[in-house]
Order: sequence, then structure tokens, then C-alpha cells
Amino acid sequence: MIQENLNKIRKTIPLNVTLVAVSKTKPVTDLQEAYDAGQRIFGENKALEMRDKHQQLPKDIQWHFIGHLQTNKIKYIAPFVTLIHSIDSASLLEAVNKEAAKNNRIINCLLQFHIAQEETKFGLDMKEATSLLESESFKNLKNINICGVMGMATFTDDNEQIRNEFKTLKNIFNTLKDSYFKDSEAFKEISMGMSDDYPIAIEEGATLVRVGSKIFGVRNYN
Ligand SMILES: *Cc1c(COP(=O)(O)O)cnc(C)c1O
Repeated sequence: MIQENLNKIRKTIPLNVTLVAVSKTKPVTDLQEAYDAGQRIFGENKALEMRDKHQQLPKDIQWHFIGHLQTNKIKYIAPFVTLIHSIDSASLLEAVNKEAAKNNRIINCLLQFHIAQEETKFGLDMKEATSLLESESFKNLKNINICGVMGMATFTDDNEQIRNEFKTLKNIFNTLKDSYFKDSEAFKEISMGMSDDYPIAIEEGATLVRVGSKIFGVRNYN
């Protein structure tokens, strides 16, 4: 089933868009099944769960962290994480830099923006991002690499609202690119779109889509 789901989804995703298979809460046997179907990029939102799965699964998997990251948990994923989508404060970025340095690595990161109407979702606004990017301490962070932006749309049936929120993220990306990352080859990623809205996200310029339940089935949080 996972293999069929993956094949179906892949047919709807253009070559220039990367599929992150969001495997949070799912057992390693499910991830192995996706792996056997060719999937190499997995997204998780809990640091310890991601570390445990990393230990058990093939080492050519690229692990993307997509959830709210607590500073004291960075150490569990810093040795191997490929991309952290969810940088939502200057202090988190500094803490990631510190753990990356301890591991002698440069960790790729996205800045997460709050584009939804729900208050519950995490993310920076433009003012916070600007002050982060213009700060002296940011310039001294040698072990992180900012590769773009991430956002989550409002949980709603209103496709126009979702589309507008994705347009907002794309505009944020363009503004930051022009102002701070003109010469950066790395700054090129726009992570947006989940199972229910990834086709809209692709139309609005997503380069990374994060699809979970459409691949692995509905999640059981118990
Ligand atoms: C869970 C999650 C997803 C995937 O959600 P689905 O609706 O199952 O595709 C994508 N992004 C983030 C940040 C998530 O937490």
C-alpha cells in the first residue's frame, strides 16, 4: 500500500520538487517499505523518535526535521540531520549552530514563517526574521547554512485562503532572497504543502513538499 501511495504521489510531483515523506509516529517497518520503494528523504517532528529511527534504518536516508525543536533536544539530531525546516527563533538558530560546531558539521536550515491564521502554529514574522538576519550574532554563525523558508497553511477547506498563504510565503522568500541572499546558491528552498494541499503549494512555487498521511495512512497518536 505504501509503495502504491508513493508511486501515485510521485506522478503528481514535477522533477524540480522534492518529496519529503513525513513518517512521524509510524513504525520503522513502514519507513523501510517506503525505502524499498525508493524513498530516501523522511521527515520527523520529534528529536528522539528521529534519532531512534536513524539508528535502525539504512544510512543513506536523508533526515529532515519538520517540527518545533526544543533547544535541549538538538543534540540528538545534530550528528546526522540533513535539513531542519523549523527554525522559528534566533536563539534556536544559535543553539543549532553550537551543536553543529560540536559535531564539526554545517547544518542546513530553513526559516519557518507564520503564514496561517491559527495562533497555534509556530513561525517567525517578517520583522523577527529581519532582525535575526541583520544581527551581529547571525553573522558569526559559521555552522549553519540558511537554505530557504518553510510554512504551514491554515487547516481549512478554503483553497483560496490556502493559496494566498502560500503566495505570502513565496513573496517572503523573494524579499529575503533580494535583501539578504542574492549571492547565496544555497538559499533556494520553499517548503510548503502537506497531504491535502501540496498540489496548490506546487502551483505556488514549492520546492519541497511534506507529505505524510497520503503515503503512510492516517496517524494514531496514542
Ligand atoms: C505532520 C506534518 C506534515 C504532514 O502532514 P500530512 O497532512 O499527514 O501530510 C507536514 N508538515 C508538518 C510540519 C507536519 O507536522
